Amino acid sequence: MVCDYSFIELTRGSLFFGQRSITQKGQDMSYIEIPVIQRAEEESRYLWVRNVGTVVTCDDDDRILHGVDLYAENGVIKYIGPRAGEIIDRKRNEASERGERFGPTDIIDGRGMILYPGLINTHHHLYQIFSRNLPQVQRMELFPWLKTLYEIWKNLDGNVVYYSTLAGAGELLKTGCTTCLDHHYVFPEGHHNDLLDAQFAAADDLGIRFYATRGSMDLSVKDGGLPPDSVVQTVEEILADSEEAILKYHDPARFSMHRVALAPCSPFSVSRRLLAESAELARKHGVRLHTHLCETKDEEKYMLEKEGIRPLEYMKQVGWVGEDVWFAHGIWFNDEELDFLAQTGTGIAHCPVSNMKLSSGVARVPEMLRRGVPVGLAVDGSASNDGSSLLEEMRAAYLLHRLHTGYDAPSGYEILKMATRQSARLLGRDDIGAIAEEMAADFFMIDAGKLSLVGAQSDPAALLATVGYKGDVEYTVVNGRIVVEHGKLRNIDEEAAARRAGEIVRDYLSLE
Ligand SMILES: [Zn+2]
Repeated sequence: MVCDYSFIELTRGSLFFGQRSITQKGQDMSYIEIPVIQRAEEESRYLWVRNVGTVVTCDDDDRILHGVDLYAENGVIKYIGPRAGEIIDRKRNEASERGERFGPTDIIDGRGMILYPGLINTHHHLYQIFSRNLPQVQRMELFPWLKTLYEIWKNLDGNVVYYSTLAGAGELLKTGCTTCLDHHYVFPEGHHNDLLDAQFAAADDLGIRFYATRGSMDLSVKDGGLPPDSVVQTVEEILADSEEAILKYHDPARFSMHRVALAPCSPFSVSRRLLAESAELARKHGVRLHTHLCETKDEEKYMLEKEGIRPLEYMKQVGWVGEDVWFAHGIWFNDEELDFLAQTGTGIAHCPVSNMKLSSGVARVPEMLRRGVPVGLAVDGSASNDGSSLLEEMRAAYLLHRLHTGYDAPSGYEILKMATRQSARLLGRDDIGAIAEEMAADFFMIDAGKLSLVGAQSDPAALLATVGYKGDVEYTVVNGRIVVEHGKLRNIDEEAAARRAGEIVRDYLSLE
């Protein structure tokens, strides 16, 4: 398959409208209009954040710093402490002695701000942005909910995927998320990795660190699965596309902006063979494995009836346990299974809002944390969340476990670490999730002087989960570049993108 991008540029002021065509096997699959603001490539490679009121580092010593500067070079934090300006002056002088130019330097005034490590989303289905809040599914639980929505999702194309990624990942950036994993598993007939091309294009246009998955389904209704025939593929097609996606996009380097994991949808929509061979392929290329597991009692019943074993035992049999595996939800594990997850380092992406909306249950997060199971945080698909905000997810997680387990519930700071360091661990990354020298310059800043935060300053490490932060953050920085400034996306025209996305939603939903 040949995926080829071409651009037609139409410049209007600083706004860039382009068209990107995706060609697959010589045939144009889709055209995407892009509301991107053109910026010089070298801009923001040197970043100086001055006088930050408070830095919650989430580092090894859980340090909280006050009144410090932060200096980043080429996307990496190089210095945290007083008077970073002296370092910048010295570098400028050294460069000028060598006859080189130093800069440009972006400067943020951090007075009165709280700076946190960028939040990391470990499970999402961004394409579902366009099928949120539909009245016909509001009262359903997972299986009927999926069956109803597949009738809409089978009409996905490159435009839907590009614009839903732009909208959902845009909301994530505006609410402090700097790395997003997306579990895309719907590939309607005629579509292959062109849909991943569209996702990476949208992520790059926004400036978010993006972890795609090559998801898949090979069991349709006629095989006892839930999806219609037109969105499932053969095992051969899936494995060929999976390998191609890894070779094209997976960058294992430290600080990489693009990674890929393999992610067959769930044990009830894929075959045993697909799970086993996906695991072999992932390990051959050193990429991670992800799927949904133990989300509902219906799934447990399906597994017991079909295979005669519980879901985790089944995953063990197909090679799906270990430090390179994480499951979304993980609600219905028994005690021995929780111990097994801890012993093997198999991780869980906790999605409290989705679990509450779909009446799936309460994940045993306090017991997982006590046993040492790696637990990250995630918003899950937009249609089972109706939003893409990890800030909201943190508060929901905090309140849900306070209600459910009282004294044993995670603290506000433990929830923040779940959304940062622990989520980084799930994604196999040691370069994001904390503020420290030689870590990625991925962070966000909120204005502590806002009316809604008056009287809430006693514990900045817990604040986001306990008090909660409403609205858009002041700044989000990814890879040392400012991507959200005063609550607005900096790299795309938000209003133009929302207008165009709204038109595409109307076309997409009226297909049915
Ligand atoms: Zn999901």
